[in-house]
Amino acid sequence: MQIQTEKSVEDWYNRIGVRAPVNLESICADMNVIIHRAPVPGVALCESKIIVLDSRLNSIQSREQLAHEMAHILLHCGGQWYQNRIYIQQQEWQARNLGLILLAPIHLLREEIGPGDSIYTLLPFLAEKFQISASSLKFRLNILAGALTLAM
Ligand SMILES: [Zn+2]
Repeated sequence: MQIQTEKSVEDWYNRIGVRAPVNLESICADMNVIIHRAPVPGVALCESKIIVLDSRLNSIQSREQLAHEMAHILLHCGGQWYQNRIYIQQQEWQARNLGLILLAPIHLLREEIGPGDSIYTLLPFLAEKFQISASSLKFRLNILAGALTLAM
């Protein structure tokens, strides 16, 4: 599932010419997804393809929220209110995972990482390059360490 998802994002991004930092707004426009900002918790309205972002967040938090809500649109349509808790937790995990792939796909990370590079020296550089928080990036790199030949 993970490798397939990475590969799908790579193919998709290559097709539309996406480079780092990933321009999520332009991808949303391609997906015909409309973005609104309001001082409310973020939400994806799947069927109407509207994402509402919390206007109180800073730009990096807002980007991560956008990626997360895009993942919900890509993965899950329909509301969550009638679903059971375990299923919702599973969807949240999937959206977090895909959201981070959308922000920092492995094929673009690979271009920046050499054999034996240390996660600690690369973290600030990659966080800036991909416009993602250090904590989210660290979470992502921990998952990918083996595939990226990263020293932890
Ligand atoms: Zn969510």
